[in-house]
Amino acid sequence: MIKEELWQAVLAQVQLNISPANFATWFKNTGIAQIKEGQVEVSVPNSFTKEWLGKKYDKSIFKILHSLDDQIREVSYIIDRPAVKIIRKKRAEEWVSPAQLEFAEFKTDKETSLNPRYTFENFVVGSFNELPHAAALAVSRKPGMLYNPLFIYGGVGLGKTHLLQAIGNEVMKNLADKKVKYAPAEKFTSGVIFSIRNQKMDSFKAQYNQIDVLIIDDVQFLAGKEKTQEEFFHIFNTLYEKNKQIIISSDRSPKAIPALAERLRSRFEGGMLADVSSPDFETRVAILKSKTNERQLLLPDDVLEYIASNVQKNIRELEGALNRLAAYQKLQGRAPDIETVKLLLKSMTLPSSRVATPNKVIKEVASFYDLKERELINASRRKEIVHPRQIAMFLLRQELKCSFPFIGRKFKGKDHTTAIYAISKITKEIQQNSKLGEELEIIKQKVYES
Ligand code: ADP
Ligand code: MG
Repeated sequence: MIKEELWQAVLAQVQLNISPANFATWFKNTGIAQIKEGQVEVSVPNSFTKEWLGKKYDKSIFKILHSLDDQIREVSYIIDRPAVKIIRKKRAEEWVSPAQLEFAEFKTDKETSLNPRYTFENFVVGSFNELPHAAALAVSRKPGMLYNPLFIYGGVGLGKTHLLQAIGNEVMKNLADKKVKYAPAEKFTSGVIFSIRNQKMDSFKAQYNQIDVLIIDDVQFLAGKEKTQEEFFHIFNTLYEKNKQIIISSDRSPKAIPALAERLRSRFEGGMLADVSSPDFETRVAILKSKTNERQLLLPDDVLEYIASNVQKNIRELEGALNRLAAYQKLQGRAPDIETVKLLLKSMTLPSSRVATPNKVIKEVASFYDLKERELINASRRKEIVHPRQIAMFLLRQELKCSFPFIGRKFKGKDHTTAIYAISKITKEIQQNSKLGEELEIIKQKVYES
């Protein structure tokens, strides 16, 4: 048991610091094969992973292991089948978080793709998520009759997936005759691509068209994918006309999703829009209390308050912190005291990983507007590029206090006058256009998160 828990704690920590795609690629099917005299043998599925983990992640894996158990002095990697039975999933976006591993008895339902661990009962409500929660609850009682579509949006790790799946699970529980389907937008997209390639579009559509409650998670993923949007639009209309319930989540509001067909945008805006924001301090403590109860962890109030004041980013991080402490408690047989907690959570509470750099700004602006970094930097005068470029210049000035000549030099063929012009233009625009302000907030969030 201990090996598994230790590795889960490592995964929980690693996951916070790397992208979901990297996490799924390099940590899928890994585990601890054995621990002997301070030496940890990590099992990996193939030689490629072995080399990569050894080179790129060795230091952080060791650090985390050592912080959880200071007897550990060495880490090595062996190719093996997984020693830890991790719930295996094919795709990155379906990867179960280590937090979920704690609830490993919950299996995703094959037909609906819902995970029963997400319920209304274990969802904490505060002012930050009151509206989406109320709407979700109402929809689960009377699908198709109240808010259609229900569109829930907000930053990562704030409970969108939880809420969406809670609706699905609630419907399954109370309205057994309803057909529910949960699909991450990315999975929906690969379904469309597969069906087109294999000339199975008709059966793909038929399958969706008989659903009573359709849940599409992370719909921002459809940005720029025209064919998928088109197919989704048709399925949406068919279901909508039959008063079937459609529930959608996104990391931003419909108007801030770039390259989204106007007709889809207006469909999304035609129902109920509800955003989740971040929980305040008191709500963070409440969430921690609820999760420690659920998992029978014994943590004193000062510890919970320490976590709540230092881990502020999102609820997923709060869970990550609890995972570390849970692993410690299980290994040591006692709850960590406040000093130990400070040590255990040091890497999570340090602000150092959240500094912005000019390159991060450029990268995130490009990615937000669905452009290549090089398009943003080069001298193109296309309107779709000029505006994002001005935004990048504005952010370099506002967030990093870069000098005008420096900003000019970052973009080929531009000088300080272009930078000054761009910055004053965007400054004015923000005052007149709240949508732009919202976009900038999202970009900034990504810059500081990555
Ligand atoms: P998102 O989809 O917005 O990125 P998730 O729904 O995956 O976020 O939430 C991240 C983690 O935090 C999940 O493990 C989820 O169960 C938990 N969580 C989020 N919101 C709440 C809440 N209000 N109450 C309890 N747990 C929550
Ligand atoms: Mg999600």
